[in-house]
Amino acid sequence: LDAGITPRADRLIEYLHRLQDTHGALHADHLAALAEVLKLARAEVFEVATFYHHFDFVPAGAEAPPALTVRVCDSLGCAMAGGAELAASLASRLGADVRVQRVPCVGRCDSAPVAVVGQQPVLQADADKVAAVVTSGGRDEALPDAIRFDAYRAAGGYALWEAVRSGARDTESIVAALDHAGLRGLGGAGFPAARKWRTVAAQPAPRNMAVNIDEGEPGTFKDRHYLATDPHRFIEGMLIAARVVGIAGIWIYIRDEYPALRRLLAEELDRVRAEWPELPPIELRRGAGAYVCGEESAMIESIEGKRGMPRLRPPYVAEVGLFGRPTLEHNLETLWWVRDIVEKGGDWFAGFGRNGRKGLRSYSVSGRVAKPGVIVTDAGITLRQLVDEHCGGMLPGHELYGYFPGGASGGILPASLADVPLDFDTLAPHGCFIGSAAIVVFSQHDQARVLAENAMEFFAHESCGQCTPCRVGTAKAAELMKAPQWNAGLLTELGRTMMDASICGLGQAAPNPMQSVLRFFPHEVAAQQQEQSA
Ligand code: SF4
Repeated sequence: LDAGITPRADRLIEYLHRLQDTHGALHADHLAALAEVLKLARAEVFEVATFYHHFDFVPAGAEAPPALTVRVCDSLGCAMAGGAELAASLASRLGADVRVQRVPCVGRCDSAPVAVVGQQPVLQADADKVAAVVTSGGRDEALPDAIRFDAYRAAGGYALWEAVRSGARDTESIVAALDHAGLRGLGGAGFPAARKWRTVAAQPAPRNMAVNIDEGEPGTFKDRHYLATDPHRFIEGMLIAARVVGIAGIWIYIRDEYPALRRLLAEELDRVRAEWPELPPIELRRGAGAYVCGEESAMIESIEGKRGMPRLRPPYVAEVGLFGRPTLEHNLETLWWVRDIVEKGGDWFAGFGRNGRKGLRSYSVSGRVAKPGVIVTDAGITLRQLVDEHCGGMLPGHELYGYFPGGASGGILPASLADVPLDFDTLAPHGCFIGSAAIVVFSQHDQARVLAENAMEFFAHESCGQCTPCRVGTAKAAELMKAPQWNAGLLTELGRTMMDASICGLGQAAPNPMQSVLRFFPHEVAAQQQEQSA
């Protein structure tokens, strides 16, 4: 614990990181000591230490894990690029001194397959590349070449913030511009941003703000892109939102998989605080490998130092959120757009869009396309247009067979529906949704059934375990989907129960890919049947 700073129970996860970074794992006696310092019951510390996937808890008398861990992504894009095979070959090649783990998406799907040695990502990884990094010890990833504070300011950045801060720009005109632009939350939920600002501003002070940079949805890497290129555009949007809504404290929650971005953000926030010392307190919080913490109330629990378990609603976080106060919760990208929309006007943003849709969207495109990456273009573009116009078409030898329009949770569409506009609401008739616009494209060399199984295993791994339909349902469905023959009736019934009775979006959306396979790729299930009877 830092000398001179009063230990705070809400910083429990930060302390656990500190212990693990120093000692390589979380040892039982250290946790007992931490509980005493924080004046928490031991159970409260142990339950948090054992909830998050990135913490290695070592019970008394047990052996600690090897000093170095290699994490190999096996989520959708990396699975298609041979992630599982890479993990298997590394396990036999690297020996017992290195631990090899298969892990869910690490947010670098445009460079699949990806392995992470210690904290150093290895892009387009193969066994030789990973072994070379292991031999060199796995250094920290270098800071990205982002626009830093001075350069951003010199190019006109923070002028809008200065105008808001000084009162030269009235706050209602800012909310009106967002409203006019039709800006919606870009973490997946799609709630209109202006309405959220007005709702939270109408609540009694003090009001808090929580920024979600957890992007754990397999296939999503847009927030990483924005932070690694132009972080101050987001920070300026955040400061403006805080001033307009009357925020007393800001917490930024960033996923553990982005250590270089965390360092970058910490440095740039220091610079911002030095420039405007009157800012409300801004705390940077480090996630610990739990997908469910992308859900707004689970993230709030995690910031408070608890297990990331979604809350029952109502009350909504806008009314009773972080530390019991009304909370404005936003994804990084929503705040990233604030400056442009206010400076250029709501009409500018709403002037983009195709096929009857309005605005701009950031599509994270990965899978079997020639040029994967973050594509910023019209809301309502179709998958076919996106791939042909922005991604250099399909990879040689690959033909479009299907795609995930919204990461693992958004369902799967076949190539015959590649001309549906991609936007909020447009995919609902097909049982899918766009969420955070993570587009994972697959070809005739892939099987939708196998990819849906991958997605269900992910949800089973990430379920927080709080409610039975999700905890038991995801595990049971993953088991049933591994069987040589799918039981379509049972899977449908199970999926319906999970959708109807799960507490949060994780359990409610988990059946989507499986149901898409039954609806759009029934020939794959029938082929299983034929193989069985042959
Ligand atoms: Fe937890 Fe799943 Fe229930 Fe959500 S649906 S609260 S992740 S068990």
